[in-house]
Amino acid sequence: MILSFVEHEDGKPEDSSVEMLTLARDVAGQHDVPLEAVVFSAGEGVAEAVGAFGVETVHVVDHDGIRDYAPEAWAESVNQLVSELEPEAVLAPGSERGHEVLAHVASKRGLPMAANCLDVTAGEAYELTRQRWGGTLLENARLTGETKLLTVAPNEISTEQIADPNGATTREFQPTLADEDLRVGLVEIEESDEEGIPLGEARIVVSGGRGVGSAEEFDKLEELADLLDAAIGSSRAAVNEGWRSHDDQVGQTGAKISPTLYIPCGISGAVQHMVGCKGAENILAINTDPEAAIVDHADYAVIADLHEVVPALNEAIREQKDGA
Ligand SMILES: Cc1cc2nc3c(=O)[nH]c(=O)nc-3n(C[C@H](O)[C@H](O)[C@H](O)COP(=O)(O)OP(=O)(O)OC[C@H]3O[C@@H](n4cnc5c(N)ncnc54)[C@H](O)[C@@H]3O)c2cc1C
Repeated sequence: MILSFVEHEDGKPEDSSVEMLTLARDVAGQHDVPLEAVVFSAGEGVAEAVGAFGVETVHVVDHDGIRDYAPEAWAESVNQLVSELEPEAVLAPGSERGHEVLAHVASKRGLPMAANCLDVTAGEAYELTRQRWGGTLLENARLTGETKLLTVAPNEISTEQIADPNGATTREFQPTLADEDLRVGLVEIEESDEEGIPLGEARIVVSGGRGVGSAEEFDKLEELADLLDAAIGSSRAAVNEGWRSHDDQVGQTGAKISPTLYIPCGISGAVQHMVGCKGAENILAINTDPEAAIVDHADYAVIADLHEVVPALNEAIREQKDGA
C-alpha cells in the first residue's frame, strides 16, 4: 500500500496535494498496491475528492488535542499509522507542512527522506529525479529505507483524475499522543494588512534590494509601482534590514512570481532571488554595478544609481500620463 498525506481546506484538497496524489498513484501502480490517504479533520467531500485521484481508503485522524496544525502531533499520528499499515512509501506534498510533517516522521523512524521529487521508479531502492536549489538543479538520487518517504515538488506535475472514480472509503484513526506531541500548535492566523496588488497576480513587479538604502527610500519605488499599476517586491536583504515585510520577498524563501515585467532595483541577482523571478517574461534591472549577476539575467539594464533613475522614470511616466 502507498500512503499519501493530503492537505485540504474544508474538504477540498490543496493543489499541491492533488499533484502529489497523481505521482502517488503512479508509484502505487508500479508496486501494484492500493493508494490510501491520511487527512486531519474530516471535511465534507474529502473522500470523494481524493477518490477521484485513485485513493481507495481515507484515514481521518481524530484526536481531541488536535484542533489545527500541530507538526509534532500530526507527524506522530502519521508515524503510528505507518506502524499499523506498513506502507511501501509515504508521499506528501512539497508544501511547508508536507515537508515538516514528513521530516518529523523520518526522524522518528530513523529513515531517509527525499524532498521535492518529480519522478519515481519504484524498486528495492527508488530511483528519483528531484529538484534542488529551488528548481534550478535536477538531481538523480536513490532512496533506500524500509518505508520510502518523499515529498513531491509543487507546480510541476500535471494532475490527472481516474476514469471511473467510486469515491474512497473513510475510516477513523485515533492516535495515542503524549503532551509533548502537542506542545507546538497553531494559535492564530493573521491576515496580511498589506495593501495593493498581490505579488503573485501582478503583471508588473517593482522590486527593491539592499541598494535602495532604507525603508523611506522605498517611497520612490512605491510611486513607480502606483504609476505602473504594479506590485512591490523585495530581496531578502531588504526584508532582513526591516525595510519591507516578508510578504514582499521574492525568491527561494519568498514568493515565486511570473509577471510580464520585473523591475529589480538595487538587487544583485543572487541565485536564491532569481529562483523566485525566473518566470518573469522580461527583466529590467537598475543597478550601479555592470558586473552584477542580475544584469546577466536581465533583458534590459540601466547601469546607474536607482535614486536618480527611479525618480526620473516616475516623472517621465507622470508627464506622459498627463499629456495623454
Ligand atoms: C537558504 C537561503 C535562502 C535565501 N532566500 C532568498 C530569497 O528568497 N530571496 C532573496 O532575495 N534572497 C534570498 N537569499 C539571500 C541571497 O543569497 C542574497 O543575499 C540576497 O538576495 C541579496 O539581496 P540584495 O540583492 O538586495 O543585496 P546585495 O547582494 O547586497 O546587492 C545589492 C545590489 O544593489 C546594488 N546597488 C547598491 N547601491 C545601488 C544604487 N544606489 N543604485 C542601484 N544599485 C545599487 C549593488 O550593485 C548590488 O548589486 C537566501 C539565502 C539563503 C542562504
